[in-house]
Amino acid sequence: MAEETIFSKIIRREIPADVLYQDELVTAFRDIAPAAPTHILIVPNVLIPTVNQVEAEHEAALGRMLTVAAKIAKQEGIAEDGYRLIINCNRHGGQEVYHIHLHLVGGRPLGPMLAN
Ligand code: 5GP
Repeated sequence: MAEETIFSKIIRREIPADVLYQDELVTAFRDIAPAAPTHILIVPNVLIPTVNQVEAEHEAALGRMLTVAAKIAKQEGIAEDGYRLIINCNRHGGQEVYHIHLHLVGGRPLGPMLAN
């Protein structure tokens, strides 16, 4: 069994977060340390530590993450200018929280995809 992270507590509403959306599959909330004017995390409600643990049974939740990203981008008024969706995996990917999350980042030009 993978170890729960702080995101499971946010999903269960046990600790505060600025939750924008929740359904039976996913939860979306604002990043606590935003890297851009809009920085939202969209997570599956079930704990999947990294993309390496993704199985076919997770496809509904993973697909919903994209549907919700598109919906929130429109709500945030960044859909037309554009934004970036990021999933970090493990050490080289820069992952810090081991519960898969899709970063929805926008609200300013984001520059080249990779810093180096
Ligand atoms: P990672 O580097 O794992 O892809 O991204 C983890 C993200 O989670 C970071 O952007 C970080 O600011 C955010 N984060 C970490 N702890 C919390 C928290 O307790 N609440 C919220 N809302 N965001 C968090």
